[in-house]
Amino acid sequence: MSFLIRLARQWIAGETSGEAIASAKKKNSAGFGAIINYLGEHVMDKTEAQENVEENIRLLTALEKEKVNASISIKLTQLGLLIDKRLCLSNVEKIAGFASSKNIFLWIDMENSPYTEDTIDIYLDVFNKFGNSGIAIQANLKRSENDVKKIAAEGGIIRLVKGAYSEKKHIAFLRRSEVTKNFSKLMGYLFYKSAFFAVATHDEQLINEAIEVNKVHKKRLEFQMLMGVREELKRQLVSKGFNVVDYIPYGKSWLPYTTRRLSERKRNILLIMRSIFDI
Ligand SMILES: Cc1cc2nc3c(=O)[nH]c(=O)nc-3n(C[C@H](O)[C@H](O)[C@H](O)COP(=O)(O)OP(=O)(O)OC[C@H]3O[C@@H](n4cnc5c(N)ncnc54)[C@H](O)[C@@H]3O)c2cc1C
Repeated sequence: MSFLIRLARQWIAGETSGEAIASAKKKNSAGFGAIINYLGEHVMDKTEAQENVEENIRLLTALEKEKVNASISIKLTQLGLLIDKRLCLSNVEKIAGFASSKNIFLWIDMENSPYTEDTIDIYLDVFNKFGNSGIAIQANLKRSENDVKKIAAEGGIIRLVKGAYSEKKHIAFLRRSEVTKNFSKLMGYLFYKSAFFAVATHDEQLINEAIEVNKVHKKRLEFQMLMGVREELKRQLVSKGFNVVDYIPYGKSWLPYTTRRLSERKRNILLIMRSIFDI
């Protein structure tokens, strides 16, 4: 377990918002933007969901006070989506309203497919009410083409990702090559229809494609990457003048996030096996 905690530390700033803010400031001074995420998901208790709202409000207050160049990102199952959709909407509205009053951008992460529809509904609701917010859309889901079209038609802002959750064949592209192909297709649509969007991947082929297309169809484009992944590539992009934003998680609920990061790369699994079996 202690090995897992050490491994997690490369992807997570620490347990407190102070540690995440310190990481964001460091990134700011190196020319990056930042997105801070308070870790947590699948909350089944109203009080806990309310505490998560309060933590996000404290985080926003600190970001404004300390003049950090950062937005925040939230997960809806951390804010009551599993308890009641209306409760979740009301919680998200509290955070979105507060973020908007501080002029801080709010991102909504996308969780696995049972929550896609509700997440989009709630996003469009708060976007139409407060603006200043964006949503992650996953290229591995077959429905995403329609979702991108729907959100772009309402002027919504999209963070395009490959998708971190394992999904069933009838709703998702399973092969890596198919996901990459769909990412490229959806990105092409965003270049055509959207004034601002985020390309959130560490895949150099897709990043280079975005850079090339942007030469012709100039857009406000942001490259977003996860803390602790491809740091050299991030620095190279910043040095070439691109907007690069580091996604910085913090909090005590680090295990599900860490497990997703581990499963994204075979080498990470091998590291764990070696530590367990001492090979
Ligand atoms: C800012 C940001 C926000 C995200 N938000 C969401 C979200 O809301 N919902 C969601 O489902 N997913 C989200 N994701 C995760 C995303 O869906 C992918 O699971 C993740 O980014 C890995 O895919 P990739 O696009 O980097 O491509 P991949 O093909 O997986 O990776 C490309 C290359 O990047 C490097 N790399 C990738 N991951 C790792 C890693 N963990 N450790 C070391 N090297 C690695 C490797 O060199 C790899 O060859 C987000 C990703 C980012 C960057």
